[in-house]
Amino acid sequence: MTKKELKILRDLLLQRRQEILERVGASSEEIGMLQAENAADWVDRVSLDDAMNNLMSKESELARELEGIMESIKKIDGGEYGICEQCYNGISFERLEVVPTAKYCIRCKNEIEKQQRRRPNYRGRSTIPTEIFEWYD
Ligand SMILES: [Zn+2]
Repeated sequence: MTKKELKILRDLLLQRRQEILERVGASSEEIGMLQAENAADWVDRVSLDDAMNNLMSKESELARELEGIMESIKKIDGGEYGICEQCYNGISFERLEVVPTAKYCIRCKNEIEKQQRRRPNYRGRSTIPTEIFEWYD
């Protein structure tokens, strides 16, 4: 992956992080102030910690995504980004552009999903016998 591509993906991640933080109640102004060095005026208002706690309890889906975003940004800065955690091959830029927090290449991801579908407790629509519906005809 080129440096330019990495920058595009990093911007995507930062943008998404901002969106999530805004959604949980931290305004862009507040986020900007948090990031600024002098945040003295800000003490009486909702802190980013509160916003995060709020996020954790109410929107675990978003919280998980935010976690993935932070992790990805860390990986970019550490030069470890875009490598599949399963097979250690590179993940394509096209895939990362759609899912910047992707941990696996498309092949491993498909494999993992297939395994999950094979779990015995998985109940697809087809497990309901059609006779049940015929009784009510
Ligand atoms: Zn892989």
